[in-house]
Amino acid sequence: MKRSRAQKKAELLAEAEALIESLLDWDEQTNQPNLRQIEAEVLDLRRQFGQRLAQAVIADQEAQQPAAAPHCPQCGQTLRYKGQKGANIETRLGPLAIERGYYYCARCQSGLFPPE
Ligand SMILES: [Zn+2]
Repeated sequence: MKRSRAQKKAELLAEAEALIESLLDWDEQTNQPNLRQIEAEVLDLRRQFGQRLAQAVIADQEAQQPAAAPHCPQCGQTLRYKGQKGANIETRLGPLAIERGYYYCARCQSGLFPPE
């Protein structure tokens, strides 16, 4: 189910606010942090926010099942849609936990997450 722009924006704003709150909590609880500690904290928050942004965009793309069934990269057989499945993917933003459409090739008897 594709969410509206307003829904996505509200979710991302809530995520951003939670991360800002966690930075402010950290700031209050950390006595005179040095530049290295501040840098580490902010980089961690930036990584988390980058992942949330990517997940928000990916979630909507995956919510739409491809109009035409994709084909098996091994044998060319039309793949069967088996529903949404959790997957962890490595990205330049770090690992992302996402829900993706999962497909099965009856000929190769293997499942995959296209388009990969
Ligand atoms: Zn195949």
